[in-house]
Amino acid sequence: MYWSPTKFITVIFIFILFISCDTKEINDGQTYIVCTTGMIKDAVENIVGEKAKIEALMGPGVDPHLYKATQGDLKKLQQADIIVYNGLFLEGKMGEILQKLNRKKTVIAMAELVPEQSHLNNTEFQGAVDPHIWFDVKLWKRAVELLSNELIKTDTTHQSYYVDNTKKYVNQLDSLHKAVKSQIDKIPDDKKVLVTAHDAFGYFGRAYNVEVRGLQGISTLSEYGLRDVSNLVDYITENKIPAIYTETSVSKKAIRAVLEGCKSKGHDVIIGGSLYSDAMGQEGTFEGTYIGMVHSNVEKIVKGLSMNSKPPEK
Ligand SMILES: [Zn+2]
Repeated sequence: MYWSPTKFITVIFIFILFISCDTKEINDGQTYIVCTTGMIKDAVENIVGEKAKIEALMGPGVDPHLYKATQGDLKKLQQADIIVYNGLFLEGKMGEILQKLNRKKTVIAMAELVPEQSHLNNTEFQGAVDPHIWFDVKLWKRAVELLSNELIKTDTTHQSYYVDNTKKYVNQLDSLHKAVKSQIDKIPDDKKVLVTAHDAFGYFGRAYNVEVRGLQGISTLSEYGLRDVSNLVDYITENKIPAIYTETSVSKKAIRAVLEGCKSKGHDVIIGGSLYSDAMGQEGTFEGTYIGMVHSNVEKIVKGLSMNSKPPEK
């Protein structure tokens, strides 16, 4: 292919322009906030609106327990003015980096802002706490309010704007909490059991009166064995639970093994869908927002657990 000198110069010019735009974007004076999970980015966006450039390191389908920061992430974390992460060891492999950065800039652990009494203890490890606080909408709302206070401290010139945004968003979260409660109430009491790949729904269970069983523990770092699978199969079969759930950020293999186990015991359980546990849906979709992910999960849970696993005998 032959390129004329004019075409060649044009291409070089566009390339230089592209590079300079990219540099400008980072150094344009706007506050740069880097978040770990999508849920946190969504909360920050709802508070600060267009007053900052906001980015999340972990996209849809990414498991925060196993996530290791890439070279690109390290660059972003270095460039960030503010870092917001979940804490309570959710980002198990990023603790050291976040601790180091905490000495240089504002680093906020959102789940650690709420009072300790509202945390759920991890039954597997003494002294450890369940990090998945976002599934109790009321508790997440509290975390949003406290995060807003922290962000205002870093940008007092926009205080009233942040306060207004937070009020609006918190009202939406109040409605969401009520909607989840009334939806979950539709499930028969003896079927309010949520079986998932890992124990991400402890706060959900406590807030909405649902028993939760995960094959893996609070973190996907923990292994599960054949005994865990067979115990769960026995439990599902004995309690005639109609549906179990996979998660978008965890391998589906384990839950499929449970499904097969139940079938071999004559209990026809179904997979009620893939829940958004530790990551949200695709950006730009309803499930790509915190409110959307909760609605989507609740819809699948209510549908799966309200149906009969076998048609009534005649
Ligand atoms: Zn998790």
